[in-house]
Amino acid sequence: MGGVISGLGKGVAVSSMAMLLQQKGYRVTAMKIDPYVNVDAGTMNPTEHGEVFVTKDGLETDQDIGNYERFLNTELTRSNYMTTGAVYLSLIEAERNLQFSGKCVEVVPHVPNEVIRRIRLCAQQTRSEIVIIEVGGTVGEYQNLLFLEAARMMHLKEPENVQFVLVSYLPIPSNLGEMKTKPTQYAVRTLNSAGIQPDIVLARASQALDAPRRARIAENTGVDEVISAPDVASIYEVPLNFEREKLADTLLANFGLRARRTDLRRWRTLVRRVYRPRRQVRIGIAGKYFGTGDFTLLDSYISVIEAVKHAAWSLRAKPEVVWLNAEAYEQAPAQLKELQRLDGLIIPGGFGSRGIEGKIKAIQYARTHALPFFGLCYGMQLAVVEFARNVLKFRDADTTEVNPATTHPVIDILPEQREKLARRDYGGSMRLGAYPCTLKRGSVAQAAYGAATVSERHRHRYEVNNVYRARLEKAGLRVSGVFKTRDLAEIIELPEHPFFLGTQFHPEFLSRPLTAHPLFRAFVAAGLTRQRQRASATAE
Ligand code: GLN
Repeated sequence: MGGVISGLGKGVAVSSMAMLLQQKGYRVTAMKIDPYVNVDAGTMNPTEHGEVFVTKDGLETDQDIGNYERFLNTELTRSNYMTTGAVYLSLIEAERNLQFSGKCVEVVPHVPNEVIRRIRLCAQQTRSEIVIIEVGGTVGEYQNLLFLEAARMMHLKEPENVQFVLVSYLPIPSNLGEMKTKPTQYAVRTLNSAGIQPDIVLARASQALDAPRRARIAENTGVDEVISAPDVASIYEVPLNFEREKLADTLLANFGLRARRTDLRRWRTLVRRVYRPRRQVRIGIAGKYFGTGDFTLLDSYISVIEAVKHAAWSLRAKPEVVWLNAEAYEQAPAQLKELQRLDGLIIPGGFGSRGIEGKIKAIQYARTHALPFFGLCYGMQLAVVEFARNVLKFRDADTTEVNPATTHPVIDILPEQREKLARRDYGGSMRLGAYPCTLKRGSVAQAAYGAATVSERHRHRYEVNNVYRARLEKAGLRVSGVFKTRDLAEIIELPEHPFFLGTQFHPEFLSRPLTAHPLFRAFVAAGLTRQRQRASATAE
């Protein structure tokens, strides 16, 4: 749980703890509890709550699940996530089905009991020995009280099996220039009033914690284990800092356990690569969720950004992400020139019509200037629209999401999705989760994956319209991946281009720090090749 303020990197702390315990030989999983009433994260705007992540079994979750997957190098499921809304919904459904046999269903104990049931279920289904649970929000908030109550109840029953870690904040006010421990003392007291005494305090601050402050926190809160957790340049360094502080060993000792082994070699190599790159690669991302500045952008596209980083690091390069405001290209096409200084262009997923014409212009630029292009979901759909308009000369070609009246609906809604939208059935109703994709032999995609079929995660309602597929292919757009069962186009590419590829799915969800996603890696590699060619061209 978190204290004092939100945004302390609780998700990274949880991911790091889980990863360390995993590397010490235990079967570990991580769960996120989000306190809001939404049943899942699918209906929330990314500017409000960051990226919507999708599990392989099709649940739309908070972005923290993505962090857990990246650190644990695993795939989690819907059992790893719950919200207040989901908990209440299952209780209400059970009540409507007479599963309480005439009893009064009460907030306490029925809500915390349902929370506990879900935690145990997750442990069972993932066959984990240790579950790290992140309670969203900050202690003292009304909305996460019932989750703290569930935690308290679990601890009461099995004190030897439950530990509490408070991720707290130690501010350094600029007028004092000194780190203050009082807010953390208050946070512990607030937690105490919920019946919980933390076993460990993770002291988040811009700097490392010194000995006197460590002692002061211990003295005033009764928490002996205070771990220093200063800001770092890369989140992937956090586990190494925790290891230096022996956090995982302390957690294990408190459970009466010992490390079965410790293997952080690959992780150390990763961090070395992060901090010691040999070159740089500049990738432009045309974002839409500019809402409240750059910070929002980072959160809204976190899996895409992380996937670019993993790919760049695997090629010993330092990733530089450039944000492009595609809307600007609509009024001022001359601004497209800024794409010149990029090594690659990504058009990520999205919804609705804002900035679409600008994105199509950017894609046209990439196609006609040999600039490596990677389209993710909406980005792939818009690449098909661009190709239909400017190569096939279907001037009003479009996706029916933007223009339902187009005479050339090259991207059209899936039939079952049309029915859902007519019923106003919006929540959790897109084509979601993992589906198999069969790759075309000899394609760029197949060469990158080095496999005949792959499984990737989806989140969309629209698709390439098969009525146009033969014409698109004849004009040079190769469909290099299909979902065989329904003959849906999953990957498109331009064989003549150095790298021009789009996926209907979201490959970014499967990229891992230790194993970059093959398509992101191929894309960034193409960017580096272009960079080298241009450098030697100027040298001559
Ligand atoms: N809006 C598009 C669709 O629904 C793309 C979705 C996305 O990019 N995730 O198909």
